[in-house]
Amino acid sequence: MSNLHVSFEFFPPKTPTMHEKLWSAVNKLAPLRPDFISVTYGAGGSTRERTHETVSRIIKETNIPVAAHLTCVAATRDEIDAVLKSYWAAGVKHIVALRGDPPNGAGEPYIPHPDGYANAAELAAGAMKIAPFEITVGCYPEKHPDSPSMNADIDMLKRKIDAGATRAITQFFYDNTAFLRYRDSIRAAGVDIPIVPGIMPVTNFSGMRRMADICGATVPGRLVKLFQNLEDDPSTRRLIAVTVAAEQCQELAEHGVNHFHFYTLNRDGLAYALCHLLGVRPMGKAVDNAA
Ligand code: FAD
Repeated sequence: MSNLHVSFEFFPPKTPTMHEKLWSAVNKLAPLRPDFISVTYGAGGSTRERTHETVSRIIKETNIPVAAHLTCVAATRDEIDAVLKSYWAAGVKHIVALRGDPPNGAGEPYIPHPDGYANAAELAAGAMKIAPFEITVGCYPEKHPDSPSMNADIDMLKRKIDAGATRAITQFFYDNTAFLRYRDSIRAAGVDIPIVPGIMPVTNFSGMRRMADICGATVPGRLVKLFQNLEDDPSTRRLIAVTVAAEQCQELAEHGVNHFHFYTLNRDGLAYALCHLLGVRPMGKAVDNAA
């Protein structure tokens, strides 16, 4: 499975300790030659400067392509266009274009800024007017909670592609059948861009469950059983998390998936171990198939 492509997602650090953790993760994972590293954008633009600083430093200090996430929340088109222009000037050519969640948290109705971009399709179109960015967008194997139906959700994905998106990364999911069903549906609807599974190893089961409830992601009964009675045992939870995520990726690879996007949460160990299990090794240390 060494022909797999990987990408890693980080969030911009707030404190010096978090800063150190991020750079330790970037330095550990960069030799795996990810297709790109992406850096998230905090709710309501709260990390605007930090996201910019982080992507700029990754560009300067690694030779890994970088993607900056950007959302439409609580900003005018002019403000967002200024961020896009500053990214392009800093050498950031790849944007993960997102609507974002309501400032009061996912689950509340989303009200676009009156002078802003209303959704990710409008943002992608706005970005393409500024410069020929590579555009990645989000997609939802189990339907975005705001979508009235899966068909409406797929129509939204098509609008994002019409606006310039050339790749979609999924919301995290643990039910591979949901992903495979979704892939079949979008292909039948004429969507032919790469759909990259977003993989989030479960280290904090109760936290993941809360997030999954908000996002509408299924938590399979098998996962519930595996994490039972491990509330006070983080080291075992980590081992199980890597095993479960590796099994998830291996099954998807058997179904033709060849690129995984890992939500690293700025930790190096899990994503590195996962890549190792999948045969993704540092440059010059290819898996010896004869061994
Ligand atoms: P969109 O695709 O614009 O819209 C989501 C849904 O809303 C659509 O599917 C559709 O059902 C409905 N909708 C929107 N506009 C319309 C319309 N005009 N008419 C009808 N229906 C409409 N959030 C952050 O804050 N920062 C990040 O860095 C970040 N990174 C992410 C990375 C990935 C890979 C993913 C999958 C999500 C990320 N998110 C991030 C979360 C994301 O912002 C939320 O999931 C948000 O609720 C939807 O964003 P979107 O770009 O998918 O929205």
